Amino acid sequence: MIEQNVKNLFAGIPDKNPFGENITVVAAVKLQTVESINRAIAAGIRNIGDNHVQEFRDKYDLICGNPRRHFIGHLQTNKIKYLLGRVDLYHSVDRMSLAEELSNKSGKAQITSDILLQINIGDQPTKGGFEYNDAENALKIIKSLPSLNVKGLMAMLPLSDDIQLLQKLAKDMRVLYDRLNDGNFKYLSMGMSGDWELCVEQGANTVRLGTSVFGARNYDR
Ligand SMILES: *Cc1c(COP(=O)(O)O)cnc(C)c1O
Repeated sequence: MIEQNVKNLFAGIPDKNPFGENITVVAAVKLQTVESINRAIAAGIRNIGDNHVQEFRDKYDLICGNPRRHFIGHLQTNKIKYLLGRVDLYHSVDRMSLAEELSNKSGKAQITSDILLQINIGDQPTKGGFEYNDAENALKIIKSLPSLNVKGLMAMLPLSDDIQLLQKLAKDMRVLYDRLNDGNFKYLSMGMSGDWELCVEQGANTVRLGTSVFGARNYDR
């Protein structure tokens, strides 16, 4: 099933978004077994994204095929040490204290960490991230931190049936991305299994897909 899902997915995803950019598919692997993840990788998945530090650590050495590793979940600063040097891209830098601490720890380890700023698009009370209107200011400060490399933006659209609203929010994100891009941006990470097509149409170039790859998650495990 995973093999077929991956096949269908790659058949259905356009090579490029309307901005002519390649689309990166990150498999969201929360709650998946090592076996399932390795099957997805064998079927063609090249990027995997974890939400939970403990799961990331447990699975790290058991994943085959050397995929790129993404961290896409909320990150407590006291757990950065478990990810440092092992994550290729942090999507979910959602507050200044996390950026500062990630820069500190990266500096001490003599590495530079690639990050995205998470933007709370639509001001969702239950979601983290920088406010849309604060993003420019936050970016300015974060770019002055020595050991981070800001590679773009990440957002999660609200759950809604209002397609026009979702299109507007996704478009707003693309506008912000283009406005803040200093030439160093590469990723606008936006789109999950339920809304990735809409997001790619509006200019996302990185999508994070769980259900589309693995089927519905089993939360009882
Ligand atoms: C779980 C998760 C996804 C994928 O969700 P699906 O709806 O299963 O595709 C994407 N991004 C984040 C941050 C997630 O936690």
